[in-house]
Amino acid sequence: MNEQDIDMICVDCGTDTEKGKEFFHVCDEVWTAATLKKEVPPYKVLCVGCLELRLGRQLTASDFTNARVNKFGNHSERLKNRLAALP
Ligand SMILES: [Zn+2]
Repeated sequence: MNEQDIDMICVDCGTDTEKGKEFFHVCDEVWTAATLKKEVPPYKVLCVGCLELRLGRQLTASDFTNARVNKFGNHSERLKNRLAALP
């Protein structure tokens, strides 16, 4: 899957996660938990706020994968905060 194939618009709120600097990868367990009741189509994304709303909690560092985009991406203040948050 190439990053350019991904639709950067959050499926829940319509925010452009590229412009909003909230493009990130979470672990499979986290994504599964968030999409179990309400599916997200392939190549679609959620912003930090909508993912947290679905999970019912805030994201912490351990929810994210080692993907490049989590380390070197252009991140919003909210995403930076979560990437550094202790579980
Ligand atoms: Zn959203």
